Amino acid sequence: MKTIALLGATGSIGESALTVIRNQKEKFTVTGLSGYSNEALLTRQIAEFRPSHVAVSTKEIRDRLRETFPFLHLYYGENALTELAEAAPYDILLTAVSGAVGIGATVAGIQREKRIALANKETMVAAGEYINGLLSRHPGAEILPVDSEHSAIFQSLSGGAKDEVQRILLTASGGTFRGKKRKDLENITIDEALTHPTWKMGKKITVDSSTLVNKGLEVIEARHLFQIPYEKIKVLIHPESIVHSMVEYRDRCVIAQLGNHDMKLPIQYALTYPQRLANPIFEGLDFVKLKALTFEEPDRETFRGLDLAYEAGRLGGTMPAVMNAANEVAVSLFLRRKISFLAIYDIIEKAMARHSPQEASDLGTILMADKETRAWVNKTYEN
Ligand code: NDP
Ligand code: MG
Repeated sequence: MKTIALLGATGSIGESALTVIRNQKEKFTVTGLSGYSNEALLTRQIAEFRPSHVAVSTKEIRDRLRETFPFLHLYYGENALTELAEAAPYDILLTAVSGAVGIGATVAGIQREKRIALANKETMVAAGEYINGLLSRHPGAEILPVDSEHSAIFQSLSGGAKDEVQRILLTASGGTFRGKKRKDLENITIDEALTHPTWKMGKKITVDSSTLVNKGLEVIEARHLFQIPYEKIKVLIHPESIVHSMVEYRDRCVIAQLGNHDMKLPIQYALTYPQRLANPIFEGLDFVKLKALTFEEPDRETFRGLDLAYEAGRLGGTMPAVMNAANEVAVSLFLRRKISFLAIYDIIEKAMARHSPQEASDLGTILMADKETRAWVNKTYEN
């Protein structure tokens, strides 16, 4: 029996994770949960899974939950996720919050030498160098990727040694606007940006997929998770989202992981690795019904998110944290109708241009760059 603390339980990944756990009741117990704005759903989840530790956004929610569940250890406010990760009993910390707000909790989980099942890619983007340093000082800790591409790469990397890897082929659906040109994207509405051809996900990552910023973040995530240089990471558009990513070795053999596009698959794998449990949720792939698996080059001129991320990654230090923070605020401004879709790229570019990257070896420097960028973007574009 493994115990799990699930951060971001009320989100898309959080709910999928709870379905996985529900289907493997004899293997997993939930000891921690967190939610932010969706109090009603969090309350139902607490009633069903009976965790001992819960983190929420405000004191008001904390007080109401305390009345209903008097024995809970409750945390609220800015440090709630980190405090829960420091205090709750768990074997696995599944971090599925959206945004760099998850950094502190991952750090706490690593310091406690736990397994981190990481969906929260922004943590690895903003603080990847620092997290890798921390991992090297805490050999009992490990990060298992939940992001489907990184789960695929992780699985494919067992096909050879690290120094035999020629390239990582990171696949991307291409998002809702694949095939469109810059002028077609000028008047994109929120509803248009929030439909995704293959994956059903939270709002922020759905917009990130349509700008290809998501794939850019994933390039940086892959760089840090697998310690593979940027020049060996190639993005390939694969609209069917069946090949979740591939690793090419120097003998030119390619090992890929294929599967349905359902996040329950990589979530379960990150929880059960090195075991593979029977999957009671869906059937295997029907290769005869799959008419074709197609691949194409990304349109980097239209979807500038990809190259902005490569640039941030290559500059290194605090620059990826700045790129990520600028994007988080820009997406939130777009979702509040304050800026146009294409302005997301301009904001990231300007935020990066005004920042001189510093070494990112301590968390304080990273969080400062993140905070300063958020403040600048908000101040400059809020009205
Ligand atoms: P959602 O928006 O659906 O869920 C986000 C979760 O984080 C919710 O539980 C939300 O609480 C909580 N949350 C939001 N803001 C804060 C905050 N400031 N402090 C604490 N908690 C907060 O996102 P997804 O589930 O889609 O994505 C989660 C993470 O997983 C992201 O990093 C994303 O990039 C990654 N990911 C997601 C995939 C997917 O298929 N969805 C695929 C691969 C990676 P509440 O809802 O109660 O407000
Ligand atoms: Mg992904």
